[in-house]
Amino acid sequence: MKKQNIKSLDLNHLEKIFKELGEPAYRARQVYDWLWNKQANGFEKMTNLSKELRTKLDELFYIPKSRFSQTEQSIDGTLKNAVTLPDRLIVESVLIPEGKRVTACISSQVGCSLDCTFCATATLKRMRNLSVDEIVDQVVEAQQQSLEHYGTPLTNIVFMGMGEPLLNYENVVKAIRIITAPDGLHFGARRITVSTAGIPKMIKRLADENLRVKLAVSLHAAIDETRSRLMPVNARTGGLQSLSEALQYWYRKTKSVITFEYLVFKNINDDEKHIEALVKMARKVPSKVNLIEYNPTDSFDRYQKADNRSLEKYRTALKKAGITVTLRRSRGQDIDAACGQLAARYENPDLPKIPTKKVFRNPSHL
Ligand code: SAH
Repeated sequence: MKKQNIKSLDLNHLEKIFKELGEPAYRARQVYDWLWNKQANGFEKMTNLSKELRTKLDELFYIPKSRFSQTEQSIDGTLKNAVTLPDRLIVESVLIPEGKRVTACISSQVGCSLDCTFCATATLKRMRNLSVDEIVDQVVEAQQQSLEHYGTPLTNIVFMGMGEPLLNYENVVKAIRIITAPDGLHFGARRITVSTAGIPKMIKRLADENLRVKLAVSLHAAIDETRSRLMPVNARTGGLQSLSEALQYWYRKTKSVITFEYLVFKNINDDEKHIEALVKMARKVPSKVNLIEYNPTDSFDRYQKADNRSLEKYRTALKKAGITVTLRRSRGQDIDAACGQLAARYENPDLPKIPTKKVFRNPSHL
């Protein structure tokens, strides 16, 4: 019989299996504690279990572990890590220190199936979803790195690395349950942000999970035509109307304020019309706006960041409408660790390369 990945099971599932093995539920909690708190890499280490049970578990399960295999440091202190997965594909996790905060930016997929035209990850074919343990292990590694490197524990987790978390829904939700569980990593749900390009159906489903995490939406334009050009997923999922409805549902269910991530590009969305549309959209649902600086990516120099004057106009209009707005400075740009720059480019001939998508090899027709 093929061994099962024990770290892909949440506590309920584990308790069920232990029951079937004729073991009490607290045994499952002990094992869970060994796996996630004590980071045991073998069943023989689980010394509060009987020898027989350890042998039995070893027959049924294996314990995988994803590690940071390479780290680069930016001049601003940001750390970019390569995570080499068991099939030797690579994703990236970023650690961002900011005053007293340390934020871990976690990946959810190898590559991405969305074709956002300004994002480097979008050039990579979506190879597969990350498994539950591959997601949680990034947090475990980040936690350790934060303590070692900055002398302080992680304060925030954002699902803003490679991939679209809501298209790896089941695994992301299970991972969040492990990250927040008192028997798991016991990390506060309110300090976790799931960022999405906006998949309305999945936003509603997430609202129903009662996870207490925060939601960020990569909006970038509140006019359908512009948004669909920047993010083809917009047209495919019913446009801004259906996104707005999903966000209203989210707020009704969770009472949690939404963050709109918003890039301002020169000559694309830096005019009054786009500013007005954003104000209108942000007024529909309790939300705040993060204006983000555009980070250049190799292949798309057809986009340029807007000048400071346009950013100021956005800021003034939003403030006037009573909407909280922050300007997010880019971090880790010098090592390609900033938003939209994660593309797992490593010069190691022994590692498989994530293929790029055809459509991005010829960006002229985008
Ligand atoms: N798929 C999810 C998670 C990725 S988050 C999402 O879209 O939200 C990555 C964030 O970086 C998103 O807000 C994305 O829109 C933004 N981004 C992508 N390319 C960028 C670039 N070149 N410069 C700045 N931000 C970028």
